[in-house]
Amino acid sequence: MPKKIATVDGYIIQANKYKERDTIITLLTPSDKKTVLVRGGYKPEAKNHGATLLFNKVRLDINIANPHFLYVDGHQTLINNTSLYENLTYSLLGQYANEILIKFFQDDDILPYDYYEKMFMAAKNGFDAVTLAFIFTCASINLLGLSPSVDECVMCGAKKNLVAFDLTEGGFICNKCLPESNVSPSNIEYMKVFRYGFKVKASQMEHATLPRMTTLNCLNELSMYLEEQLGYKINAIKLFLESVK
Ligand SMILES: [Zn+2]
Repeated sequence: MPKKIATVDGYIIQANKYKERDTIITLLTPSDKKTVLVRGGYKPEAKNHGATLLFNKVRLDINIANPHFLYVDGHQTLINNTSLYENLTYSLLGQYANEILIKFFQDDDILPYDYYEKMFMAAKNGFDAVTLAFIFTCASINLLGLSPSVDECVMCGAKKNLVAFDLTEGGFICNKCLPESNVSPSNIEYMKVFRYGFKVKASQMEHATLPRMTTLNCLNELSMYLEEQLGYKINAIKLFLESVK
């Protein structure tokens, strides 16, 4: 079959050894994720080994002649994030994000590409990993269609006197509706962190460092919520939470 090349930019979010010396990668692009074979990619000296390094942004020449069998024909590294491998927390942050993208999103879903990109830029600036993990999780939940109500009471629509936040109830609850729910009032910081996380834009991810203890609790709740809603375990979250204690 003659070659037919498409050039695609994206991040490598998964790389698995295949047969003796090949690697199968998953590339996160602004519009989807793709599974692509890198021939000989497992060997460090291979021409396209650079197309198998997690967290890096690459420009791939992909042979698309057979749509069921895409393979890498050439590559260029656009952003090298491999320095993050040396930092346990950032490394686990990247693994955590990769796991969310791989397990919870379908190939042609809208994926949180902008947040992913911004998260690595911020990590390289040394920005707070807990804030980044939390915002990335919120953005993912928004795109998965599981967003809680963070602007009004989930029960009556009131915009004032919001006194509790509960993920399983679906978001904020006002003081009038609270007695009808099984929820206890939440502290203000906890409610503010959730509201911020679900509202903040990717371009503003480094705008504020969130309070650590509260955000760790919120992150833990969010990841459990995702696991319960979609039925997959996120392996990296425990290690990540351990690493930032
Ligand atoms: Zn209400």
